[in-house]
Amino acid sequence: MKRRQLLQASFALGCAPSVLSRAWAANLPAKAQVVVIGGGYGGATAAKYVRLFSDHKINVLLIEPNAQFISCPMSNLVIGGSKSLADLTTSYDALSSKHGVTVVRDKATAIDPQKKTVTLQNGGSISYDKLVLSPGVDMVFDSIEGLQAANASGQVLQAWKAGPETLALRKQLEAMPDGGVYALTVPEAPYRCPPGPYERASQVAHYFKQAKPKSKVLILDANPDVTSKAGLFKKFWSDNYKDIIEYRPHRQQPLVWHPLSNL
Ligand SMILES: Cc1cc2nc3c(=O)[nH]c(=O)nc-3n(C[C@H](O)[C@H](O)[C@H](O)COP(=O)(O)OP(=O)(O)OC[C@H]3O[C@@H](n4cnc5c(N)ncnc54)[C@H](O)[C@@H]3O)c2cc1C
Repeated sequence: MKRRQLLQASFALGCAPSVLSRAWAANLPAKAQVVVIGGGYGGATAAKYVRLFSDHKINVLLIEPNAQFISCPMSNLVIGGSKSLADLTTSYDALSSKHGVTVVRDKATAIDPQKKTVTLQNGGSISYDKLVLSPGVDMVFDSIEGLQAANASGQVLQAWKAGPETLALRKQLEAMPDGGVYALTVPEAPYRCPPGPYERASQVAHYFKQAKPKSKVLILDANPDVTSKAGLFKKFWSDNYKDIIEYRPHRQQPLVWHPLSNL
């Protein structure tokens, strides 16, 4: 589909195109209302720039269930011990006070494109002229048998959504005896943030080297090779963490969650 057709299709649905521009905002009537679902990097940036590009004339409502934004980028540094979660946490206050975005702390549960309304979990609905959908991605725990239960019990932490699990994983690593193994799996590409798992392995190895030098990081990669910046990562590991990081490519991802000894 050509860009122009994509834009036309998006407008016909009442949805905003994924790339916002000054021209897009300028084409909306002054009293228009734009609703943004999701206050991550995508949605919060969209909300701010619709306000800026319209000289603060267009009403923008941002629907986001969390009180604060926690950045996924840099969250591996919390696991490695060189940043705190507070360093990565920002409130939505500046979006309201500086840019006039109305932040609605709620979750969107349904969209009616005909009536142009969004239903909220806590009741009520909000009308829109244009809608920006930016809810991100979520974990699909039931794709691996047993993973949901292992995660719920705190046994297997994903920590790919920065927040409480990031801290919990850091605490697990701190509690791990020296000589232990931290194993992480890398799914087949494409997946969100290609360097993320290798970055995490490096951060954990950095911590182990200082605090638990007999410990190991085991990377079980479903891909044939490191999927991002392979040369850089592999050189860095061999120069700095030769005895700590073990990299195994071509590893089938588990269909059932099982103990480390069976891997
Ligand atoms: C460890 C790690 C490191 C990373 N490092 C980098 C990096 O260095 N550089 C980089 O560019 N990218 C990096 N990424 C990727 C980056 O984090 C994502 O691409 C980015 O966060 C996606 O932003 P988003 O706004 O689309 O989604 P998200 O950040 O997931 O935000 C979605 C928001 O929508 C909200 N939401 C969901 N459902 C609803 C609903 N029904 N109603 C209302 N709100 C809802 C959620 O609460 C959330 O706040 C990294 C990712 C990870 C995990």
